[in-house]
Amino acid sequence: MSVPRVNTPRKPAYIDLHIHSTASDGTLSPQEIIKTADKLGLRAIAITDHDTVDGSVEALQHQDSSSVEILPAIEISASFDFGAMHILGYLIRLDDPPLRQTVKVVQEARATRNLQIVKKLQDLGVDISYDEISEASGGGQIGRPHIAQVLVHKGVVQNINEAFFKLLKKGRPAYVERYRLLPVQAMQTILQAGGVPVLAHPFTLNAKTQADLDRIVAGLKQAGLKGLEAYYPGHGPVRTAQYERLAHRHGLVITGGSDFHGTVKPGVHMGFGGGDLRIPYELVEELKRSASSHTHSS
Ligand code: AMP
Ligand code: FE
Ligand code: FE
Ligand code: ZN
Repeated sequence: MSVPRVNTPRKPAYIDLHIHSTASDGTLSPQEIIKTADKLGLRAIAITDHDTVDGSVEALQHQDSSSVEILPAIEISASFDFGAMHILGYLIRLDDPPLRQTVKVVQEARATRNLQIVKKLQDLGVDISYDEISEASGGGQIGRPHIAQVLVHKGVVQNINEAFFKLLKKGRPAYVERYRLLPVQAMQTILQAGGVPVLAHPFTLNAKTQADLDRIVAGLKQAGLKGLEAYYPGHGPVRTAQYERLAHRHGLVITGGSDFHGTVKPGVHMGFGGGDLRIPYELVEELKRSASSHTHSS
């Protein structure tokens, strides 16, 4: 008699490697994120908070509460003159001392900048205090989205986007520059912590042409880049294919994520972005191969 085949139901093997929690400017706690990911049937997630590992640390403490695999991660803002350069770091050792020291320096610079933004807003005649922003952040690291939330709440602007457009973004009256790591420093910090540095949402670099983007990516690769976030809400099939080719040309692994922030980014859903994002689990396996190859060779 043959042994009956056991048909264990297969979870859809989708993942989301770009999620923000209350440790930075997302509105769900790491535990709520795990619960949501579980409900959605996601197989793996990464909490990539801006310049802090606190979200990942907390998530990993609750790893056993679900079957969702959690990859330790961070998103570091690097200095770049033309647009926004964010470097994701996957599979990092969260307790790595140099990594912790580096993010501490960046966090202090961010705190100083936040005070300066509040001062600028006050000088512009806006009735706003640091305590209100601190409260909006829920105890995690404070970012401009929290300031934007308070401005909306007070009726200074209609919505978060308007807060950035009128006041908070570069070139606007309440913008304040802050110290950022050089791209090479961000990537080396991630590499020496055993992680894989990945260029997030490449379109925010504002490269004028494909050739420009190619040159930027080639330079980053020289400085340690290992991956490129090709799957992202709004990339669309044409852009996604361009990024896949770009990654292949430079020998980079491909990653993807929704950049879910909860209610501060309405319309962006965990796992599925605007609705049509589907990121296969195989990318996690490639990330792991990338992490182990450079950890062993260095
Ligand atoms: P910070 O890290 O404090 O400088 O704030 C940057 C963060 O603000 C980004 O990572 C986004 O999450 C968010 N952000 C930037 N531009 C906008 C915008 N136009 N509308 C909403 N959120 C934005
Ligand atoms: Fe953010
Ligand atoms: Fe980002
Ligand atoms: Zn992000």
